[in-house]
Amino acid sequence: MNAMDALVAARDLLENVTPLATDCGLLCSAACCKDSAEEDEVAGMLLYPGEEALYAHQGAWMELLPSSLLFDGQPVPLLSCFLPCPRRHRPLACRIFPLTPYVKTAPDGTEKLTVRMDVRARPLCPLCDSGMAGLNPAFVSVVKQAMRILWENETHREYLRALTAHLDEYQWL
Ligand code: SF4
Ligand code: SF4
Repeated sequence: MNAMDALVAARDLLENVTPLATDCGLLCSAACCKDSAEEDEVAGMLLYPGEEALYAHQGAWMELLPSSLLFDGQPVPLLSCFLPCPRRHRPLACRIFPLTPYVKTAPDGTEKLTVRMDVRARPLCPLCDSGMAGLNPAFVSVVKQAMRILWENETHREYLRALTAHLDEYQWL
């Protein structure tokens, strides 16, 4: 599967599944969306390889900004939204929030793709308190499935490694 097909397949899998079986936005007044116009990387959402092309003609609800994360020599685009998005157009990072892929590397260099609570979600998402065990199991399962699809593609695999290094740096900020 090429990078765009993998991205679209991952996004499609996450079209309807949500972190809780009920609307978790009621817990926090949709904090992850409300804060999205603020100028920091917790609020903006990093796009996955190729995803920028899906936002070329999206109109006034969002803009793309350069992030501090470099991939393939370029800043990864950060989607910042000013208005609630058309839900079917929300980026992959929003679909998996508050989870993130994370690549664990063993001492012998063996890599293992995992999914974990996103360290960047901690300041705003109340679901972080109960961890993955508190999330809708169907959501966790589909996020893992979507990330496995990306992992099969070399471009996305490289990006997931870069994202993991970025998350490691973020822990120390
Ligand atoms: S911040 Fe967490 S609990 Fe609130 S809407 Fe976003 S994912 Fe749901
Ligand atoms: S793109 Fe949509 S789901 Fe993502 S933060 Fe903005 S309003 Fe929320």
